[in-house]
Amino acid sequence: MSTNYCKICESEQEKGIHLYHLFICEACEAKMIQTVPEDPDYAYFVEKLKKINTKPLQI
Ligand SMILES: [Zn+2]
Repeated sequence: MSTNYCKICESEQEKGIHLYHLFICEACEAKMIQTVPEDPDYAYFVEKLKKINTKPLQI
């Protein structure tokens, strides 16, 4: 079974989605969907995505 490297949690994961050229695992995808801007985790995700993609992502 193949694995992909999730850039958000920085670990190898089997299940997830490909968003542009990066891979986001199921767990991180679910977290991102549930995270609101008021949540401290939101800034964490935004920072991670900024490092990966110079264009701001609409989450
Ligand atoms: Zn992940």
